[in-house]
Amino acid sequence: MKKILVTGGAGYIGSHTVVALQQAGYQPVIVDNFSNSEESALAGIESILGVKVPTYRIDCGNEAALRGVFEAEKDIKGVIHFAAYKAVGESVAKPLAYFQNNVGSLLTLLAVMPDFGVENLVFSSSCTVYGIPDALPVTEATPTKPASSPYGRTKQMCEEIVHDVSAAPTNKLRTILLRYFNPIGAHESAKIGELPLGVPNNLVPYITQTAAGIREKLTINGSDYETPDGTNVRDYIHVVDLAKAHIVAVQRLLDRKASESVETFNVGTGHGNSVLEVVQAFEKASGQKLNYSIGPRRPGDVPAIYADATKAAQVLGFKTETSLVDSLASSWKWQQTLK
Ligand code: UDP
Repeated sequence: MKKILVTGGAGYIGSHTVVALQQAGYQPVIVDNFSNSEESALAGIESILGVKVPTYRIDCGNEAALRGVFEAEKDIKGVIHFAAYKAVGESVAKPLAYFQNNVGSLLTLLAVMPDFGVENLVFSSSCTVYGIPDALPVTEATPTKPASSPYGRTKQMCEEIVHDVSAAPTNKLRTILLRYFNPIGAHESAKIGELPLGVPNNLVPYITQTAAGIREKLTINGSDYETPDGTNVRDYIHVVDLAKAHIVAVQRLLDRKASESVETFNVGTGHGNSVLEVVQAFEKASGQKLNYSIGPRRPGDVPAIYADATKAAQVLGFKTETSLVDSLASSWKWQQTLK
């Protein structure tokens, strides 16, 4: 079994990808500092797979510790790098922490990988790199605009770092940059899912916590945008579908099929849904009425963004399979296990 190092492997997308890797015949190895993840994710992974996944409790920015992992595991074939902070609002309050952690951990990884002959990298990027796009849907060729938050800027910087490192004459690194849209949902077993700390920032955990009675009501952040119903439009992708994109990307790198040293793919459904449509889909999925009201706009929000998913379909053969209602049903099932 080919070993794939998964940094941030105990996190939301990481844990679902670890499960998908093992089920696809790879040997995932987790690196996580548990700064924004829980030990319970490891128990969930083990319960789904029936085996323990080797796990190192270290910070990916700690070069000596990271070297230790590559030494101990010896034959790592590729890395999927999730480990990063991910909250847009928090990044505005703590920009330095975001640059140090998100950019720092990538730099450390890129310094260590060549010393162990590891040439394959899948990097967690984000549709935030597009900023506020001029036209929709966004393709990989859509020019990036200034990011609306330090978080988005770290993703832009990380992409540029990967390009510069790859352009060096002696470089052997091959990278697939996956630009995620909005991941939602949980594993069908409801043994792993999103574990927001404190009050959720993201829409779907806020909705499920409201339906569960943990929050009083959802506030929709503005209904006066230039969108069909006035609320923001996003591309919501089921996390298990998203996890599968990583498997195809890793396989492409290991098969040496990548056409360039850095390839970029949007990973979304190709459909935009408004906040109100998500609320209605949740009500259908859960059979519950949701308490919500309209509030002011949230600073930093892009009015509308969704993916042109053609390139991932054509080049990677990747297509999402789960509908919005089914994705939300899995979120609701997961929420009910947390009560
Ligand atoms: N949103 C909302 N109320 C909330 C949380 C989010 O109306 O309590 C909206 C948010 O303004 C955005 C959409 O839901 O339009 C998705 O937000 P999220 O934070 O989940 O993801 P983002 O697109 O910002 O990465």
